[in-house]
Amino acid sequence: MAQKGRSADSAAEQGADERSLQSLRAGRWLGAAGLRPTRQRMLLAELLIGDGQDRHVTAESLFEAAAGTDRPVSLATVYNTLRSFTSAGLLSEITVDGTRSYFDTNTHDHPHFFWEDDGHLSDAPHDSVHFSALPDAPDGAEIARVDVVIRLRDRRRG
Ligand SMILES: [Zn+2]
Repeated sequence: MAQKGRSADSAAEQGADERSLQSLRAGRWLGAAGLRPTRQRMLLAELLIGDGQDRHVTAESLFEAAAGTDRPVSLATVYNTLRSFTSAGLLSEITVDGTRSYFDTNTHDHPHFFWEDDGHLSDAPHDSVHFSALPDAPDGAEIARVDVVIRLRDRRRG
C-alpha cells in the first residue's frame, strides 16, 4: 500500500492512476446505458462524471471544459452527445427560461436553485419541497415528473 516519502515518479504515476480511474468510471457509465464508448463520448463522460461528483453543465460550459483538454471537440458534438446521454437516461435536462438547457448527472428527481445573477444551477435540499396537491393529469396522460426550479437573486440588488 501507500508508502511515505513518495518520489516525483510516483506522483506522476498517481496522476496516471487518476486518469485511468476517470476513464474506467466513464466507460462503466456509458456501458450501463448501452452506449458505445467512442472517443468523444469517453472524453465528455470523463468531464461529466470522471471525478465521481454530480454536476450541472450547459453545452457551452462543457464545450469550454473540453477545450481545456488535449482532446477538444466541437460545440455541435457536445450538443449531440449531451442529447444522446439524456435520451439514454444518463443525464436529466432542466430547461430554464425556455431557452437555456442545463444537464444534470444526478437523474433522481430533486429541486434546483437557479441563480439569476450569474445563471448557474445548483441543487436545493431534496426534502425541502413538499407538494400538498398537484392537478390531475388530463385524460389519457400521467404526470411524468415535476421540475422545481427556485429562482434566486442577490438581495442587495433590490
Ligand atoms: Zn441537480
